[in-house]
Amino acid sequence: MNRNKSFNAIKLAETVMPGGVNSPVRAFKSVGLSPIVIKRAEGSKIFDIDGNEYIDYVMSYGPMILGHSDKRVIKSITDASANGFCFGATTEAEVELAGLVTTHFPSIEMIRLVNSGTEAVMSAIRLTRGFTKRDKIIKFEGCYHGHSDSMLVKAGSGALTTSVPSSSGVTECLSKDTLVANYNDIESVKNLFLKNKGKVAAVIIEPVAANMGIVLPEKGFLKDLIDLTHENGGLIIFDEVITGFRLSLGGAQGLFNLKPDITCLGKIIGGGLPIGAFGGRKDIMEYLSPLGPVYQAGTLSGNPICVAAGIATIKAIEKDNAIDKANKNAEYLVTSLKEELKYYSDELTINHISSLLTIFFKKSPVNNFNDVMQSDTAKFKNFFGELIKEGIFTAPSQYEALFLSSVHTKEDINKTVEIIKKAIKKI
Ligand SMILES: *Cc1c(COP(=O)(O)O)cnc(C)c1O
Repeated sequence: MNRNKSFNAIKLAETVMPGGVNSPVRAFKSVGLSPIVIKRAEGSKIFDIDGNEYIDYVMSYGPMILGHSDKRVIKSITDASANGFCFGATTEAEVELAGLVTTHFPSIEMIRLVNSGTEAVMSAIRLTRGFTKRDKIIKFEGCYHGHSDSMLVKAGSGALTTSVPSSSGVTECLSKDTLVANYNDIESVKNLFLKNKGKVAAVIIEPVAANMGIVLPEKGFLKDLIDLTHENGGLIIFDEVITGFRLSLGGAQGLFNLKPDITCLGKIIGGGLPIGAFGGRKDIMEYLSPLGPVYQAGTLSGNPICVAAGIATIKAIEKDNAIDKANKNAEYLVTSLKEELKYYSDELTINHISSLLTIFFKKSPVNNFNDVMQSDTAKFKNFFGELIKEGIFTAPSQYEALFLSSVHTKEDINKTVEIIKKAIKKI
């Protein structure tokens, strides 16, 4: 497979953009390869500027559950843009999108639209601090909540009480208010509450962790977490930026029948255009400006073109039963892989839920960040190299998911299984 044009384009990109990219994982650093540069995408396929075709399992890290370039979404975006790009005033479409989300998420009584998942989480955190008049936030090691300062913190080697910024540039003053617990370990949360009595504003969690690879919540963990948080006077935030409109129309909370105080959304609700949202209990949401004392604003918030893409995407998901289709595709992929790779069951773990999965190069179980860290990343690196060479595009990191869409075909999946099998044998 010739990738000369991509190689040269990245060389040029590196002269004007740090690392040649606008988001770090795109630089393929952890797999030591030169990245592909994309020309276009359609359905389950993505094409680079050298004309190579790949079956896509990145799916823009989540938004493209309908596959790329869905005709209905294109029409909706085109129609909206013909009416102007943004106005600095409210449109009816924003209210329609808010209605669609609140219908599917009973816990979201009121919602505010923003421009990214990062912004949704950042604003939700501020809101919970304002509402509770407390400063501290509990997050879980290995969970990603965007790149706002308070969220770029994870504990150093299991030391739960001493928070260490994991990004340079995050002040100590901020990171000391972010406490880090272990996923699937309710005792670690109890300890943090004990040591910080009356100080914790909120606990934020990915109800299914999808940013350290897929890690599922153990039975009862999320319910216990909600109860524990409420007993301690805190609020619970579900970060459903990936899981919203993917695990079910009502996200992970719909699938597990749980009710967080605040929910953060992004990715699918913009259908591939920049959007984010946070919402929840009315009494909390009314703490936001202009009604309440917590300030939050945005020139491009509720942008009509992004909103149009979101509405068209959600309606198409409903109409197509896209979630069921994507789930069936993932189920077929996982079942086939488990069958074909059974000789390697001592070296591999496939974590899977709905249309998300991760192949870890580690013996089962993978239930928390510590387990994830034991995965053999050298093997992953070789694995990724074999896949991309054969026309399979997955995230260039062990710590991401494979995303299935409703339009991946049996043919795509059969081909993928063959290539994965060959790759595993080879490495
Ligand atoms: C992607 C993601 C974010 C950040 O969203 P951006 O749109 O990239 O800012 C936040 N939380 C989770 C769970 C995510 O997967």
